[in-house]
Amino acid sequence: MENRDIDMKKYNPAPAVLSVLLFCLMSLPSCARDGEAFVMQTFVMGTRGAITIYGLPAEDAGSAASEATREMHRIESVMSTWKEDSEISRLNRDSRGMPVRVSSELFMLLEKAYRFSELTDGAFDVTAKPVVKLWGFQGGEVKLPTDAEITGTLEHVGWRKIILDEEDTTVALTDGAGIDLGGIGKGYAVDRCVEILKKRGAESALVDLGGNMFAIGAPPGHEAWSIGIRDPQDQSSLIGKVLISDEAVATSGNYENFVMIDGRRYGHIVDPRTGRTVDHVLGVTVVAPSATASDALSTGLFVLGPEESLRIGETVPGTRAIFALPGDVFEFIGNFGGKLELFE
Ligand code: ADP
Ligand code: MG
Repeated sequence: MENRDIDMKKYNPAPAVLSVLLFCLMSLPSCARDGEAFVMQTFVMGTRGAITIYGLPAEDAGSAASEATREMHRIESVMSTWKEDSEISRLNRDSRGMPVRVSSELFMLLEKAYRFSELTDGAFDVTAKPVVKLWGFQGGEVKLPTDAEITGTLEHVGWRKIILDEEDTTVALTDGAGIDLGGIGKGYAVDRCVEILKKRGAESALVDLGGNMFAIGAPPGHEAWSIGIRDPQDQSSLIGKVLISDEAVATSGNYENFVMIDGRRYGHIVDPRTGRTVDHVLGVTVVAPSATASDALSTGLFVLGPEESLRIGETVPGTRAIFALPGDVFEFIGNFGGKLELFE
């Protein structure tokens, strides 16, 4: 069995309708023989979901992967702001400063999103959507925002505008704030799939949702899963690979989702503290104990840059990061202990 390098390719969001249609066409199991991988793919949350399982009889692998795949779609229907009837869209519409009761699942994820917003001092901010939209993402108009527009929009941004009441599981959104789980929801879905696969007996599996990955165990004959890190400046090549086992990895980059304004590129990750897009980092790959953490932190560390991120690496045990900076410069946070190989 040859070591597998898995690309961290990400895909642009697509309309919800397309995702349902493609789900029907694309949940393609590839059947496993002994020692071979069982792979199931789907299109969900505007991206590709893939589940790879080793070591289970094909029938068991198939039903485990089906259950995990269904879970990705269920989570999309609750957490996607692209779906008008999702629970999160209803909360965004209905709250207007008033407490709205939400499911315990959504409440728990909002608590986590709040904590990551707090931890990164708002570099990852779950209320960032209006200012992301201002730059032409998420269905906004592509144009250079004025300073006044940025200042005005930032009045509705800030995780502290979310009031969480644990006792009643209610959420109130004040000052016209809204929630967008685009920087954490895929990671959460990966963690849920991992729970399902483990419950179904998988000891060697990889869940990948648009580059948010969690590795269970290792492929047969290997000590870890080998995950390729894409070169942010040349997506057809890899800058290296990282070995992970029973942990998660995610990459945030500005190279796939960007807009062009007056001949300049602006990426889809915005610094919610200034309202400006980020150009001091090309890409960051974050290894963390859960996919929820690596998803949120990859966005957060991207905004913070390597120096400010050092503190986060010390606060969240097990967090490591590789920054690709302009001018072919790489910086690292945490100790990879020989589990990172960078190519020349
Ligand atoms: P992607 O989801 O495209 O793979 P990320 O995980 O880095 O990449 O998340 C980026 C998404 O999060 C964007 O689609 C945007 O809607 C949202 N976003 C952009 N900037 C921030 C930010 N600073 N904090 C939280 N969410 C953000
Ligand atoms: Mg992310």
